Parts: sequence; structure tokens; C-alpha cells
Amino acid sequence: MVFATPLLWGLATPAVAADAIVTDIRVGKQDQQTRLVLELSGRIAFNAFTLADPYRVVIDLPEVGWRLPARPLPARTGLLKSLRYGLFKPGTTRIVLDVTGPTRISQAFLLDPGGAQSYRLVLDMALTTRQAMLGKPQSKPPTAAAIPPKPVQKASLPFAPPLRKPAAKGQKPKPRKRVIIIDPGHGGVDPGTLGRSGTYEKHVTLSAARALKQHLEKTGRYTVKLTRNRDVFIRLRDRVAIARDAGGELFISVHADAIKNRNIRGLSVYTLSERASDKEAAALADKENKADLIAGIDLSNESQEVTNILIDLAQRESMNQSARFAASLVKDLRKEVKVLRNTHRFAGFAVLKAPDIPSILVELGFLSNRQDEKELRTKSFRRRLARGMLTSIDAFFARIEEAQRR
Ligand SMILES: [Zn+2]
Repeated sequence: MVFATPLLWGLATPAVAADAIVTDIRVGKQDQQTRLVLELSGRIAFNAFTLADPYRVVIDLPEVGWRLPARPLPARTGLLKSLRYGLFKPGTTRIVLDVTGPTRISQAFLLDPGGAQSYRLVLDMALTTRQAMLGKPQSKPPTAAAIPPKPVQKASLPFAPPLRKPAAKGQKPKPRKRVIIIDPGHGGVDPGTLGRSGTYEKHVTLSAARALKQHLEKTGRYTVKLTRNRDVFIRLRDRVAIARDAGGELFISVHADAIKNRNIRGLSVYTLSERASDKEAAALADKENKADLIAGIDLSNESQEVTNILIDLAQRESMNQSARFAASLVKDLRKEVKVLRNTHRFAGFAVLKAPDIPSILVELGFLSNRQDEKELRTKSFRRRLARGMLTSIDAFFARIEEAQRR
């Protein structure tokens, strides 16, 4: 069960400075209280609330800039385990605090500048009981749960792109552009994996996605849509919805991994299956599926996606197509970049669950490996990646057209 105990704190006057900048975050412990202080360049409105499973404290601000001192973010102080921040959606910056147990916000307020001090947002937290946290009737946090679940799309036939009209005699049909969705993993408040020398997965995935888009569109054969084109958080199911709305015919989610063994490197490719092909694949899917939790989303009123036979069928067919595409991709990419041995594995990734769009997930490499981390940041890597991908993508659509002619 997931539960939210929101406490809403707003300012009476909507004196929102759109260009406020956070200049420091401090966390301290005093008796039973843990205090968080944000230093701000201007006056802002904010919401703060708590979530359970896991226990989190969430602070939503208008979109702010960040100019923090060059030292690590606060961690392991009082109730605070760790902290992250980033754009939650356009217009909303979110700070998420992982806390050690059921927490209540005892007070939260904004202080005007005084002396050498700038504006400060102060939030005090104290331990409470789980019962107290869950027991109260409560309203929902406005930013988290307000998005109604999207109705399940009627499944179309197992991935059958519309047939083209037969061309007039002597006239070559002008092929329509295929629509490809590239999904840069993570973003905003969810940074993804952190590399050995500080590279964020969310930045690596966006650069690779942009380069890939450019390379594919240059051919004139493809229209490429990115699920995000800036450093913003997108929930997993919204990534799938974006793909459907855009009429995507192929969905490629781009990530970068990290692992304890720092010697392991190389790209790997995953497709969806109900059962993961091995323990590591299962653990990876688990990790990637946690993005919504990491971003401080209340999952208590998520509706279970209704499945029916049609969706099942479509899914099976698109799963086969995904698997075939992944296999050819591994082959083509091997010529261009370092590929993990034994790659193309199967795991239950939430982001690959569009029933009617063949979907794969690519882990570009391991940010836990120094060489990979360095490599993934280079233009040359992105160019080779795009080249290998294009070969496989061309073959993928050629196969579909071939099947239609028969
Ligand atoms: Zn990832």
C-alpha cells in the first residue's frame, strides 16, 4: 500500500519570483527535529508533503535555478537519508528527501532576508508513527496525483502499419516516413545512475538520444520524436503514452547502467518479457522501474492497466518483433561499439509495455566503469551508436515491408 499525508504550505501572497535561484541546501539535527534550510534569491510559494512506501518528504517549488556551493548534497543527517532535486515537470521543481522512517512535517515557512542572510525556506521534520502518518483523512498532493490515469488504448491489430495505396502506373510510390520514438531515460528530479567521476545518467541518455534523432532524420526516411528534450522528469507510463500519441512504430529507450564490479563494461540490449532472463536482468528492471518512486510520486491511486485478449495478442506479436530487432541491433552495434558479452536479455521494464509498439531498451554502457564513463560522453561514441542503430532500423522496416508485399 502506498499512502500520502500531505501538508500544504502556501504563501498568502502569490509573490512568485520566476527567476528565483537556490543558492544553498543545509540539513541539521536538533534534539528530535531535523531541519532543512534552502537559501533562495527571492520569494517563492511552495508545497510540502510526505509519502510512505518508501518514506519520503517532498517539496515542490516553482521552476527555480540552482547555484549550489561545490560540496556534496546533505545526506545521513537526522531523519534524512539522501536528497535529490530537479525539474518534475515544466514549471515545477521538486526536492525529494528519503527519510529513515514515518515522518511528519512539524513546520515549514519562508523567512525574509535579514542581515547577511537571503530568503530562506525552513522545514522541520520529526519522527512519527506509521499509524499517525497513515491514519488521518487527507487530501492529495496537488502535483503528484492529479493526473488521471489514461484510458487504455484499444489495441490495434498486432503491429500492422497501414497499407499504402497502390501507386499509379509508372509512378514510384513516395514512401511515408516511419515514426521512431527515442526515450532518454530519467531526467529532472530523477538523475538515474551516477558515474564514477560524477556523470549523470540522465545527461548521457539525452545527448545520445539527440544525436540519434539527428542521424536518423538526416536520411529523410524517419521522423523521430523524443519523449523528453530537456532535463525534466517524465513518468514511465507517460513515456509510453507519448509514443502511442505520436503514432510510434518503434520505441527505443536509452539508459546507462552501473554495477558493483567496476571492470564490467559494454553496451547491452533488453526486451520485455514477463520473466527476466536472469537475476541481473531482473535487478536492472527493478532499478529502472523505480523512477516514479524516486521522483516522489504517490502511486496509491494508480489503476492497474486493464488487459484483454487483444492487447495480449498485440503484445506477443510486438514482443517477437522487439526480440528480432534487438538481436539484429546487437549484431550491428558490435561493429561500432564495445558490447557486453551475452547481451540481449529479457526483463520486465515498465517503459517497454506499449502493447502494440515494438520496444527495446538499450543500456549504453556502465557508468561504474571509468572507460565506459569517459567513452559515453564523447561525440565519437554517439556517432558510432547512431550508425549501428540506423543499420538495424533500416533492416527492421525493410522486413516489415517485405512481409506486407507477400
Ligand atoms: Zn536508467
